[in-house]
Amino acid sequence: MGNRIYLDYNSTTPVDRRVVEAMMPAFSENFGNPSSESHDTGRAARVMVDEARAGVAAIVKRDPQDVIFTSGATEANNLAIHGIAAGLGRPMRAAVISTEHKSVLEPYRALEREAGADVRYVPVSGDGLPETDWLEEIPDGSLDMVSVAAANGETGVINPVGEIAGAAHRKGALVHCDATQIIGKSEFNAGLLETDMITFSSHKIYGPKGCGALVAARDVRRRRLRGVVHGGGQEDGLRSGTLNVPAIVGFGAACKIAVPESPGEAGRQGRLRDTFEDLMISKIPGAEINGRGATRLPNTSNIRIPGAFADAVIANAPDVEISTGSACTSSTMEPSHVLVAMGLNHDAANECIRVSIGRQTTGDDITSAASAIDRAAAFVIGKGI
Ligand code: PMP
Repeated sequence: MGNRIYLDYNSTTPVDRRVVEAMMPAFSENFGNPSSESHDTGRAARVMVDEARAGVAAIVKRDPQDVIFTSGATEANNLAIHGIAAGLGRPMRAAVISTEHKSVLEPYRALEREAGADVRYVPVSGDGLPETDWLEEIPDGSLDMVSVAAANGETGVINPVGEIAGAAHRKGALVHCDATQIIGKSEFNAGLLETDMITFSSHKIYGPKGCGALVAARDVRRRRLRGVVHGGGQEDGLRSGTLNVPAIVGFGAACKIAVPESPGEAGRQGRLRDTFEDLMISKIPGAEINGRGATRLPNTSNIRIPGAFADAVIANAPDVEISTGSACTSSTMEPSHVLVAMGLNHDAANECIRVSIGRQTTGDDITSAASAIDRAAAFVIGKGI
């Protein structure tokens, strides 16, 4: 790894060694297909999946039978949105916060294009908080579903999920919450208890990639949600395909570790993040924290360095691994849709870096990273790149 300082934990996390250990038996000893109930090999795999299901349900305080395993949060979001739309038998009417992850926005855009859906994109304030008045004003029964993320992965801004869910329910709408970025990073968010469907992902919480879940309340799962991947009828007919047992076991183990450890880690990471932001503001003239006025995830910092193109800053601090906006869009020059929704213009949005701290981050990492970013920013501003 050399001198690399990884500060991109919102993009992905390393698999915890305890998780790797928990997964090992699921590769060869207990290699069975959990749907093969007719023999011990299959039943042993089923037992491992059941245990993981209980761990995944517990982190969001739901019943194990509410958990539908998927290949990740992208698939879980698609299942929630396309699965509810498919059960309606008419075009969907929905509202979505404009700062949602692309795996929430794009399924809605597909429904608009292909199935006549009527989708409202809810604006956010300069601090990234969604407007809520519109929900009070719309007629009862005029909305099928609202999608609101628990927290934004780019800025760390935490949405008022409970408040939005309460208002949406009063109007008769279902509530879908993409909780991918909040799980394991803060105290349990009570707003999640008010939602009907929750999405999250294993690789953001020190579990393996390629596994996630949609956790859907029984009534929604049984009566309103339709599967979108059809086949052998696994996961109660809602997501066909042989279960990815090793990844599911790892996901369950990662959840079980996160429940007792995340509150302490959130405090530690929050202190590191605050130190980092203080250093940035004191070193770099005009540096601004995006979403500063909102409650934010303790590990996330999104900073604008006026006059310094973020890609150039990153290129000139090669040992510091950070991103501009979300990793999914950072290969293009398009500014982050999240920062644009918060009112930043094209150029300002391209001057923002995202730093996200994790379990392995130390105080030394923070001071070294702050100095390297400061040097890179001064170089870039000086050259006028
Ligand atoms: N939602 C959010 C908020 C995310 O940050 C991500 C990952 N960047 C996803 C969904 C997609 O998750 P996955 O990689 O598991 O498909």
